[in-house]
Parts: sequence; C-alpha cells; structure tokens
Amino acid sequence: MTITYSIIAPIYNEFENIPALWQRLSQVMDSTGEPWELILVDDGSSDGSNERIRELAASDERVRPVIFARNFGHQIAVTAGMDYSRGQAIVVIDADLQDPPEVILELAKKWKEGYEVVYAVRSEREGESWFKLLTASLFYRLIYRITDVKIPLDTGDFRLIDRKVVDVMSSMRERHRFLRGMSSWIGFKQIGVEYKRAARLSGVTKYPFKKMIKFAQDGITGFSYFPLQIATYLGFIAAGLSVVAIPVVAALRLAGSHSFEGQTTTLISVLFLGGVQLISLGILGEYIGRIYDEVKGRPLYVVRDAPKKE
Ligand code: UDP
Ligand code: MG
Repeated sequence: MTITYSIIAPIYNEFENIPALWQRLSQVMDSTGEPWELILVDDGSSDGSNERIRELAASDERVRPVIFARNFGHQIAVTAGMDYSRGQAIVVIDADLQDPPEVILELAKKWKEGYEVVYAVRSEREGESWFKLLTASLFYRLIYRITDVKIPLDTGDFRLIDRKVVDVMSSMRERHRFLRGMSSWIGFKQIGVEYKRAARLSGVTKYPFKKMIKFAQDGITGFSYFPLQIATYLGFIAAGLSVVAIPVVAALRLAGSHSFEGQTTTLISVLFLGGVQLISLGILGEYIGRIYDEVKGRPLYVVRDAPKKE
C-alpha cells in the first residue's frame, strides 16, 4: 500500500501533548480518506514521552516511533522523521499543537493543485511572550536581508513537502541544519498558506534563549557570508578613519595643540581595534567550528529504536 501522507512530529518532553496530538491528527487525516502515517521522533525525552510513544505505536500501526539515543535537537529530529518517512507528501508539525492539524487540509489542497512545498505562514501568534515575538520577528527579517536564498517571512517548519523535495533534502547531510532555508534553497514550486498559530497546549517551550541563539547562528552561517564580510567592512572603516586622522593630528601638533596627547588616546584606539579584531576572530571561529563538525562526518543522529527504512 502506498502511503499518501507522512506526518512528522518531533518530540522533546511533550508527555501531556501526545494523546491530544494523536487524536486531533487522526481525526483530520482520516477525513482525507487517504492512507497516512505518523512518525513520532523522540528527541531524547526524559519525562515518559518515550513510553507514551511506544504505547501509541502498539495500539495504532500507523504510528511509527523513532527513538533517539539522546537529545539531538529539533531540526535533526525532523530530519530523522524525513529519513524514515514513506509518504508522497511529508508534513512537519510541532507536537505542542501550536500548529493546528486542521491546517494540513489546506496545505494538502495546494499540494494537489501542483505545489511542491506548501509552507504555513503565521499571520497571528497566540500565547507567546513579547520577547519571543520580537526576537522571532527580528530574526526572520535579518535572515531575509542577509541571505541569498529568500526564506519567506514569519514561516516556521510547519509545512507540506512533496516526496521529491524531501528526497533532495535528505541527501543534504549538513549537520547544522536550518530546514526552512534548505527547503527554499532547493526550489520547486512553493506557496504559502496563512494560519493562526495557537498557544502551546501544555508544558513550556523547549527553545530557551540559548537554543534560539544557536538556531539563529545556524541559519545565518548556513546561508550567508555576511558576518565574515563585516570584518572587511570594519577594516576599511578603521583604515579610512586613520588616513583622515593622521594628517589632522599632525597638523594640530604643528599648530601647537595638546588635544591628542597621553595614554588615554592610545588606550582608546588599542581597545577599539582589539575589540574589532576579537569579534572578527570569533566570527571566523563560528565558521571554522562548523567546518570542523562537517569534516568529522559523524552521523547526524543515533537511534535506539526505529522502524525499518524502506
Ligand atoms: N523539540 C525537539 N527537540 C528539541 C527542542 C524541541 O524535538 O531539542 C520539539 C518540541 O517537542 C516541539 C517542537 O520541537 O514539538 C517545537 O518546539 P517548541 O514548541 O518548544 O518551540 P517554540 O514553539 O516555543 O518555538
Ligand atoms: Mg511550540
């Protein structure tokens, strides 16, 4: 039997949300009248989500569990889901029900019209802190400006992707993954569908500030050289300033002025340049660290338990 829809939900400590997720998803997916599967990727949960996923899989054969050996992160969990998926259309959805399963029907409609990537655009977001809204909004706009691929604004990973796009995505084994960027990079016919992002059903966000920063860094370094070019720009600015400043200071000295004397002047310029150089080194380090990770060529994830790949 060929499966039409593979739904992928990454799960990191979502014990309370799993039954509701399964219930709402199965209701929506059954209404399509087409065969579907639900791939639940347990990303090293420690709250019993693991057992819950296994129970669900034992009672419903459409549920296929992929259990990680530890926490590998959201983007990697979704990647694993794609690796194990068998459907003609793959839907990525959050397990906390912030992405309403009912929207999948609208995504599927566009897919049937011939679009190969149908991404869901957040027209409204409920129940999120002003800090999250502000940082998310800034991030989407920053990344839109500085990357070459045009990643649609206010769009997360909630989307439907055709099998042929997923096959390309799965063949891209980069470790610092930014899936929405990769999906834009691949191309094909893409379209957005607006939806209202709900509040989390239960529990707290699994994206604390530190993870958000890392996610942003992965997105930026993965799709842009702009941070590397900042060093060049700053270098030109500093050199330009000194070209102007040297004759000015020399002239002032000749005229008998005492304005640029003493240690303070030296200290300020040394600290300024030292700062610029250290920041540039740090940016270089970010890229080099990522190159090092790629070169090691370790597997993206380790599974404790997973269905057979087909
Ligand atoms: N998630 C995951 N691994 C992680 C962090 C999050 O699999 O290390 C999952 C999480 O269980 C949820 C989805 O990724 O299904 C989105 O996470 P969350 O809702 O916490 O992010 P937010 O919506 O707050 O940005
Ligand atoms: Mg969420």
